[in-house]
Amino acid sequence: MKNIPPNPRKRVHTFIKPEVPGKKKMRPCKRCYNKLRETVSSREADKKVRHVISCCDDCPQKPAYCLNCFNTGHI
Ligand SMILES: [Zn+2]
Ligand SMILES: [Zn+2]
Repeated sequence: MKNIPPNPRKRVHTFIKPEVPGKKKMRPCKRCYNKLRETVSSREADKKVRHVISCCDDCPQKPAYCLNCFNTGHI
């Protein structure tokens, strides 16, 4: 029998992708944006950044993240 830890405090954040038909709110992925900003101006970053409807449900203010950035670790 495996030792299952007794429900530790939630450490993994929740990736959510709200599916609201006709009311999709695209937002720039926060991490993509920050990465772009290291190399380009904010104007360029605005144009190049990936827009997503997904976000992290557990971060304060629920910032937008694409799945890739979410998995790569945004915490
Ligand atoms: Zn991203
Ligand atoms: Zn998060």
